[in-house]
Amino acid sequence: MTVTDTRIIKSEIMVIPKWARVLAAVVFIAVPICFYAFVWTKPSDAPVPFRILVSFLPGSILAVLALMVGYVNKDAGRRGMNRTLWTLLVIFIPNAIGFILYFLLRSPIRVECPKCGTVVDPRVNFCPHCRHSFHDTCPQCRSAVRPGDKFCANCGAHVDQVA
Ligand SMILES: [Zn+2]
Ligand SMILES: [Zn+2]
Repeated sequence: MTVTDTRIIKSEIMVIPKWARVLAAVVFIAVPICFYAFVWTKPSDAPVPFRILVSFLPGSILAVLALMVGYVNKDAGRRGMNRTLWTLLVIFIPNAIGFILYFLLRSPIRVECPKCGTVVDPRVNFCPHCRHSFHDTCPQCRSAVRPGDKFCANCGAHVDQVA
């Protein structure tokens, strides 16, 4: 893993809201306590390695689930997606299919227009509020051109790029 990868993972983890972290921690500790308090009341009920495995496993799974739900809840917001809808889908579609769907279907993170501050989809060419151009565009048909292109891929017009 490169330094950039680590940084991306760190910033993604920072997206997880505080309530989800607290919930994850509580669940992780509370589930084993419940097992010890209500299931194995006598020392002869189960061998120790079995107890540790069985009590920590569901707690860990629920804790990870809480973190993932928190992540989706926050991440959907910065992508201009319906936060409530996606949070519910992720919780109620079984076998993590909701999560898989979310990662397949999520929109790109919205960006702020450097000129007027309007939050826009990064795939657009122009800011809908102030007409600031986000990418180099073809002078004839206004479709985006990639850096270094000499001719527009859409209409064939000659492109003079500033950079
Ligand atoms: Zn703008
Ligand atoms: Zn063109």
